[in-house]
Amino acid sequence: MSQPKIWLSSPHMGGGEQKFVQEAFDTNWVAPLGPNVTRFENDLAGFLGDDLHVAALSSGTAGIHLGLVLLGVKAGDEVICQSFTFSASCNPILYQGATPVFVDSEPETWNMCPQALETAIADRIAKGKKPKAIIAVHLYGMPFKADEILAISKKYDIPVLEDSAEALGSTYKGKSCGTLGDIGVLSFNGNKIITTSGGGAIVAKSREIKDKAVFLATQARDNAPHYQHSEIGYNYRLSNICAGIGRGQMEVLPMHVSARQAMHRFYKNYFAGVKGVSVFSEPGPDYVSNHWLSAIVVDPASGKDRESLRLALEAANIESRPLWKPMHLQPIFEKYPYYGGKVCEELFNNGLCLPSGSNLSDADRDRIKLTFDAFFS
Ligand SMILES: *Cc1c(COP(=O)(O)O)cnc(C)c1O
Repeated sequence: MSQPKIWLSSPHMGGGEQKFVQEAFDTNWVAPLGPNVTRFENDLAGFLGDDLHVAALSSGTAGIHLGLVLLGVKAGDEVICQSFTFSASCNPILYQGATPVFVDSEPETWNMCPQALETAIADRIAKGKKPKAIIAVHLYGMPFKADEILAISKKYDIPVLEDSAEALGSTYKGKSCGTLGDIGVLSFNGNKIITTSGGGAIVAKSREIKDKAVFLATQARDNAPHYQHSEIGYNYRLSNICAGIGRGQMEVLPMHVSARQAMHRFYKNYFAGVKGVSVFSEPGPDYVSNHWLSAIVVDPASGKDRESLRLALEAANIESRPLWKPMHLQPIFEKYPYYGGKVCEELFNNGLCLPSGSNLSDADRDRIKLTFDAFFS
């Protein structure tokens, strides 16, 4: 008989969620607005700090799309995006009829390489078009090199859309990820650090931008007794039911962050004694990752390789997954410009995400350890 599956990252309820969902039923706020939505937004703004304004949305992808709309991205524009990411970071560029321009990662944070970014901007300008926005991602919860990326954004006056879908609870120089760029985006999908079953948010620096996001996310209705529209709208608001789940999850977010960081320490300790495996870790004290997913790189020259480790884990009913396949190597995106070398391609070839959930038990860790012991012995 096979043992129960150990997942990469599964939903982890705190216990308070159903109370808020019940409140929604009791008050008949079964709609994409209501008190849970407002309270969830306030909880998020309180957690992120500073003077922030959060608009809760139906998904992180909706957040990326609305972020591009808010930054004025239109058909024919170019938008720079980190190649090493999930497709939801860049699909919305195409929703807008704009063109993605992909940029490689640097080896320290695995995120957008500042040098490659500046090369890309200079070359796009030389070719006659200044990019309209930069989408930078905190992959696996690791903050990108924010000082360098934001300095380039300022130098060329191109705004940063900060994809913080994986980085709620991470900080850079003490500042929360999601609050570093011109507009931040969060995700509450089922596999993220907290979940609303499906959901996302825009983090805005002003009340006006938040209000504009909410206006666009609710079909862009002008102020009139009838339905009147002077802009294209979307149906992107979060349901008051899902926001109830979010309120309960906010009660346990700090616990989820520390549990995922403890999983990272578990792998750090284990692989300290294994040749040829490096655990993805913060490059210095300015960076605090929530370690949404713990990841390793297996050096094929060590005699072991990523794929055989993945299969060994699979045979033990333990889920693991190769790192994101870069966007510039995807069939649907390979025709777009790419700037950089092979940093993200090599990470994809040799990297593996390991079980990282905040709900993993000591027994799960023992099974993972035994499987590693057998594989690396
Ligand atoms: C999950 C994720 C998204 C999209 O969020 P959804 O809520 O699933 O739409 C965007 N970018 C990154 C990097 C993600 O991991």
